Amino acid sequence: MDTALNTKLPGIERRQAVIKISYSGSDANPNTPASYKKPLSNPMIDSYFLDKLRAQADIVFIIGELWEIKKAGSNYKGCCPFHTEKSPSFSVSPSKQIFKCYGCGKGGDLFRFVQDFKRLTFSEAVHYVADRYNETVIYERPINRTRSRFHDLDL
Ligand SMILES: [Zn+2]
Repeated sequence: MDTALNTKLPGIERRQAVIKISYSGSDANPNTPASYKKPLSNPMIDSYFLDKLRAQADIVFIIGELWEIKKAGSNYKGCCPFHTEKSPSFSVSPSKQIFKCYGCGKGGDLFRFVQDFKRLTFSEAVHYVADRYNETVIYERPINRTRSRFHDLDL
């Protein structure tokens, strides 16, 4: 129901809604994906998992769920969610899997978009994208912690 309502809103109104959310602070961020739990010691997301998710995820699908874009030739276009404009200069390339705004210069991959649009950290953005594809985020094994545990046991 909410998504149906959102798609009817013009770009400006939706942009204000996004800005309003950002005032609630990072700990109480309602955009934080349900699966995201703050890691204890900042472990790295497994690079193979990240590559796999990057290959699987489609930037047009991810952005299209959050913002109105329309097919224009081989790319998709819309009004930029990051600055106020009346004529669309925001472009999404399915072949390059990147977005670019020719008005304000913002651009990047799908994780960059999710980070900036939903005001999330990189890890949170990865969790968001993973959630959309029913994937569980895999972290690298915490090597340092394992070593200190062995040290404590005097091995
Ligand atoms: Zn822009």
